[in-house]
Amino acid sequence: MLHSITLIPGDGIGPEVSLAAKRCIEATGVKIDWEEAEAGQCAHEKYGELLPKRTLDSIRKNKVALKGPIITPIGEGFRSVNVAIRHALDLYACVRPAKFYQGVKSYYRDIDLVVIRENSEDLYAGIEFQEGLPKTLQLISEISKLQDKKIRQDSGISIKPISKFASERIVRFAFEYALHNKRKKVTIVHKANIMKFTDGLFLKAGREVAKEYSNKVLFEEAIVDNMAMQLVQKPKNFDVLVLPNLYGDILSDLCAGLVGGLGIAPGANIGNGIAVFEAVHGSAPKYAGKNKVNPTAMILSGVLMLRYLKEEAAADGLESAVKSVIAKGESVTYDLKPSPDDPTSVGTQQMADAVIHELICSK
Ligand code: NAD
Repeated sequence: MLHSITLIPGDGIGPEVSLAAKRCIEATGVKIDWEEAEAGQCAHEKYGELLPKRTLDSIRKNKVALKGPIITPIGEGFRSVNVAIRHALDLYACVRPAKFYQGVKSYYRDIDLVVIRENSEDLYAGIEFQEGLPKTLQLISEISKLQDKKIRQDSGISIKPISKFASERIVRFAFEYALHNKRKKVTIVHKANIMKFTDGLFLKAGREVAKEYSNKVLFEEAIVDNMAMQLVQKPKNFDVLVLPNLYGDILSDLCAGLVGGLGIAPGANIGNGIAVFEAVHGSAPKYAGKNKVNPTAMILSGVLMLRYLKEEAAADGLESAVKSVIAKGESVTYDLKPSPDDPTSVGTQQMADAVIHELICSK
């Protein structure tokens, strides 16, 4: 079957890691018609806008995209192009697996957990009031009328909306993910003891949804600060974590750190019948154009994409090839060598070549 996929190379190291991932995905033999589209700084230079309509239209049409990291220039109207894409397409579930691969530098081994982050609300909803503006002062005055609470006049304010609808939707997604991926446990992470009407609602909705799966998947609850400690002390105790947006963002980086860092952490943003796959890392501008960074996170994002496309055999083959290259430790980038200045480290495209070689040899 031929799949039409939008490819957004992105900024900084984006084009290099996207090219590496594209080459590896093509080497699986899966037939893909790539439609290139721009977003971020490169789109701004070409079209004068950070997120052109044609890019969103391309993703809407193809329903699947592979995206490199994007720079959001400071002071250009958008809080983040990435957040804007997620909101425009209602990609409400962010899926970030954290899996240990033999050969990666890490304090831990045998970790295999998945962070599922709510992507549409919370402090990332973008409802913010700048310190000193008349509307901010008006809001402060209204709040003091509604609640017996003082907010200092020189405050900036960010609003944290969390709805029953989005909470139920993401927890249901987490349970369905657990069922389909033969996972045993879902842990809901919150701070409901303090934020009773936002995190409290998230937890209450989660408990209700969990009842529907009570004889199929285990369910447990954890407070986010305690969760951060438990992840560092005994990460193997966890399987699928489901969290509101901000905690999900923070703990997914923590989990990436548990298994070797950003160079190998893949991700997916999923909505109803539409998905954008991207590495957890950003555009690392200082390495742009140097053929230096690790393409693994982007290649593994491609593996997630192949699974989403139901190309399981190709996904398994590509993941095994990556695993094997990392385990051998020869044709790997600087970050996977014992020391970052190891003279035997290879470039981004050379690591992709090694993955392709493994893939072809295993066929
Ligand atoms: P970053 O992830 O780009 O880089 C931080 C550091 O992580 C790098 O200096 C490098 O040491 C390491 N690193 C990142 N990717 C790596 C790779 N593939 N291989 C090896 N090492 C790697 O984070 P940042 O510097 O905070 O952000 C830079 C830009 O990226 C900002 O403009 C930010 O907004 C953007 N960003 C975009 C996304 C996205 O598009 N999804 C995500 C995060 C940050």
